[in-house]
Amino acid sequence: MKFEDLFSSVKKIKGVGPIISKKLSDKGIENKIDLFLNLPTGAIDRRFCPKLDQLEVGVISTIFVRPVKYTIPRFRNLPNRVTCKDEYGSIDIIFFNSRESYIKQILPLNEEVVISGKVGFYKNKYQMTNPDYIQSIDKEKDITKIMAKYSSVAGISPKTIQKIYKEEIGKLKDIGEWHSQDFLKKMAWPTWYDAIYNLHNPINVSDVNKESKFYQRLAFDEIFSNFLIFSEIKKRIKKLIKVSKVINDDNLLRIKKILPFTLTESQQVSLKEILTDISSEKKMLRVLQGDVGSGKTAVAMIAAYLTVKSGYQVAFLCPTELLAKQHFLLFKKVLENENFNIQLLTSKIKVSEQVDTRFQLSQNKIDIVVGTHSLFQEKTTFNNLGLIVIDEQHKFGVQQRINLSLKGSVNTDVLLMTATPIPRTLILTNYGDMDISTINEKPFNNTTINTLAKPAEKMDDVMVFLKKRLNENDQVYWVTPLIEESEKLKLTPAVKRYEYLKKKLKVEVGLVHGAMKSEDKNKIMEDFISGKIKVIVSTTVIEVGIDNQNANTMIIENCERFGLSQLHQLRGRVGRGKEDAHCLLLYSKNIGINGKKRIQILKSSLDGFYISEEDLKLRGFGDIIGYKQSGEKDFIIADPAYHSDLFQLAKEEIENLENKDVKLEEHFSQLLKIFKKDRVLNIIDTG
Ligand code: ADP
Ligand code: MG
Repeated sequence: MKFEDLFSSVKKIKGVGPIISKKLSDKGIENKIDLFLNLPTGAIDRRFCPKLDQLEVGVISTIFVRPVKYTIPRFRNLPNRVTCKDEYGSIDIIFFNSRESYIKQILPLNEEVVISGKVGFYKNKYQMTNPDYIQSIDKEKDITKIMAKYSSVAGISPKTIQKIYKEEIGKLKDIGEWHSQDFLKKMAWPTWYDAIYNLHNPINVSDVNKESKFYQRLAFDEIFSNFLIFSEIKKRIKKLIKVSKVINDDNLLRIKKILPFTLTESQQVSLKEILTDISSEKKMLRVLQGDVGSGKTAVAMIAAYLTVKSGYQVAFLCPTELLAKQHFLLFKKVLENENFNIQLLTSKIKVSEQVDTRFQLSQNKIDIVVGTHSLFQEKTTFNNLGLIVIDEQHKFGVQQRINLSLKGSVNTDVLLMTATPIPRTLILTNYGDMDISTINEKPFNNTTINTLAKPAEKMDDVMVFLKKRLNENDQVYWVTPLIEESEKLKLTPAVKRYEYLKKKLKVEVGLVHGAMKSEDKNKIMEDFISGKIKVIVSTTVIEVGIDNQNANTMIIENCERFGLSQLHQLRGRVGRGKEDAHCLLLYSKNIGINGKKRIQILKSSLDGFYISEEDLKLRGFGDIIGYKQSGEKDFIIADPAYHSDLFQLAKEEIENLENKDVKLEEHFSQLLKIFKKDRVLNIIDTG
């Protein structure tokens, strides 16, 4: 096979027709390479060959038996049954949906056959239903004794998928190797071909494990290709010489005075790092990470202020309408005496106003624009963009992040902010060696959040608790989960709860959910912030950014449906004022072990770093930094829970090769193609 053929459609494979290719495509498998990188999730071991008195229920077994009797039912929907024996016992082979003639043909009476499948037990008899293999004795070797198992291609029989892999995989032999012999030898790793081959045709069950040398080799390749991209992006950015921004100390003092508080130590440090970048000749590409409520906005605002003062425009990008609006209002309020032109730009704004804002932007008439990703549509052109701030950056996919970072010009600094603290292992994973600033303290360490958990059935107790909070003049967030299966169902929990609370409570109750018009949503949020609405029922739309210091109670229903970091983020909405806060987690009967563990962790800590490390442990590979939320994932093979040392190794190897002056991009061009990284570089070069 030629290298290019890896990128041809799976339809080209013998035995892959429209039905199978559709099923594969549903799982994101379009090209041959997708198929090869779709690694087995385990292996089926057929080496257990018990005699019929040694059968074990639930175990995949290969048995050598003779059919002795057919039981053909009178009714169509009942299964056919073939009783088989060896000298030690008997077993029934059960067939659903098979024709009698076919069964008699493959299982002729009194002729020894090999059958492989899972052993069951029913009405006091051993049985095997729809066996995976039935072969005559002389063809026993045709039974694959260790067979790779693929979870993500359900709907295609294991035998079919096996065949597809068999058909194609031998042809890969001609595809080259990009790592040096020395390197592979040092690691005791197989070649790319051997790795792929053995993962799909394991000899031992352990071959398909994430720890196997075959798996490690491919995981390394994936991580390596990712870092290579980061390294290339960084190199390209480093080459750029921007016009350094002049930061005036008086202006710095002035904005600090405008803010209604003094910065925490930690905010000061991060700010200094950012300002150093901004005033240098290097384009800034920095992540500002800090727990919810750690005060990232203030830091970004100062950077924005000083950027404008040094003669540039600033774009502030938010993942939701609501957050954009809130930030916009905040900017307007804080900077009201500064004579700045600050505008909001989202897709929900009247088109004529959008057009006007875009025009003003292009004419350098706007100093700060706050908006959602419609900010970065092609039709938005900046005249003099000096800084892009991307808030809650984990809500954006990797590709989006890269695209956005490339908007503007050489002179545009980029600051990514993330409220989900990133564990150390993942910093390396997702940012390569990007610059990072961390805010690791909160302005209000004197408030605590009392976290409690209760079974949902105790709704009466919950109402007592809720009324008590309201009597103490508190405001309450009540969060319900989304039900994903259908749009209609989607709202039920929130709407139901809203109706219920409206009946039970004397105060004003509000409802917000994702499917609402954003004007309506904003109106309700405003009423909540102004204190008119006391209890707000919502789906997780409030997860990001909303800031109401007077709301200090949060009730989260069906908490078992939320991830740990998500719960922590939600909880971070409260405890932002001077009052102590309360978070009540309601769980339903079917909460699992992990759900209980998550509650324990939340009750034990308010530290986002600790919590996301625990989250990583609980989940293995998580959507901890939110790739599931953004629908994008950085890795399909590598798993930080298993391969953390490979991240370090990849980093070192890249440095090593760079020192040897290897032209990485050229040398590893095939690898980059395999993991679809070449596209990223193309965008950078053309963008
Ligand atoms: P996040 O990091 O989650 O984006 P915000 O920037 O929204 O946090 O800040 C949370 C709250 O803390 C806001 O109400 C903000 O006004 C307030 N705040 C930020 N910095 C300080 C500070 N140094 N002292 C007191 N309050 C602060
Ligand atoms: Mg924020």
